[in-house]
Amino acid sequence: MIVVMNYQADKNDIQSVVNRLEGLGFKIHLSEGVERTIIGAVGDKTQINDVALEAMPGVEKVVPIMHQYKLASKVFKKESTIVKVKGLEIGGGKLQVMAGPCAVESREQLLEAAKQVKEAGGTILRGGAFKPRTSPYSFQGLEEEGLKLLAEASEATGMPIVTEVMDASALPLIREYADILQIGARNMQNFFLLRKVAKENKPVLLKRSPSATIEEWLMAAEYILAEGNFDVILCERGIKSFETYTRNTLDLTAVPVVKYLSHLPVIVDPSHAIGDWRFVGDMSKAAVVSGADGLMIEVHPNPPEALCDGKQSLTPENFKKLMKELNIIANTLGKSLNDS
Ligand code: PEP
Ligand code: MN
Repeated sequence: MIVVMNYQADKNDIQSVVNRLEGLGFKIHLSEGVERTIIGAVGDKTQINDVALEAMPGVEKVVPIMHQYKLASKVFKKESTIVKVKGLEIGGGKLQVMAGPCAVESREQLLEAAKQVKEAGGTILRGGAFKPRTSPYSFQGLEEEGLKLLAEASEATGMPIVTEVMDASALPLIREYADILQIGARNMQNFFLLRKVAKENKPVLLKRSPSATIEEWLMAAEYILAEGNFDVILCERGIKSFETYTRNTLDLTAVPVVKYLSHLPVIVDPSHAIGDWRFVGDMSKAAVVSGADGLMIEVHPNPPEALCDGKQSLTPENFKKLMKELNIIANTLGKSLNDS
């Protein structure tokens, strides 16, 4: 439930409502806007008489929330969430492009990819050190060695790093290197992992599972928010459909819908969605038009030699060309790419 305080409510009024709700076993999350404070209360609503709460000083109204997610909802927080990472903003008017190889393969490969991504205007470096592969026989990632290389590439280019956490046991290691913790599509509903990652005090990039509805995706985000971590970036990366020509079906309809339902920033990963580099550019452009706050794109210095996802990776040249086109589209929409 949401308790909307009126504009005259003072600190004591707010505290009294918070005390009353906490006394009834609710977990409280405050959203302090410029004009008014909104109190999000998560718990068993059969415990409360809404009318009595509305009689308390400073309370304007009590709004029951129909959908299951509460903290992720726009009803709780009207203003868009802006996630800050090393001076960059995800969710403001500026589009951030996260790019890099699917997996960290070698020092040479990663440093070259990072250099090219940076030169083309990318702002955040992606790269997997722990890889969730469909086959146990495929390349599984360089693990700690990969994280060290990511740190070196970040140091060399100034770009923050986003990298996947597949298992909570790797968190003590990954937290030393990552600026954004990525939850992969396969782990979207690994609620134990979501809770653990949420407690790290770092932004979390939450990929949509290929079989998750929008509501299930937002419920997964709710797990992170419920731990008090509001720095969540949602990432649409394609869902299962009857179509087999493409790897997944990029659900761009989810972008405006999620932005309507939630205050969280949404980015799009066209690489894993479509699975073929030829179409990544067009879908990146479509994603920007659909209202995405950024993109995640796989870029490899030599895609035919890639150990992972070479087919969907852009060459640095193609990435550079795409970034120029994205810039034009962003400007047309009154947005801008990064700091340009
Ligand atoms: C990735 O981004 O490296 C990845 C494995 O993507 P997804 O979890 O969306 O399949
Ligand atoms: Mn990949």
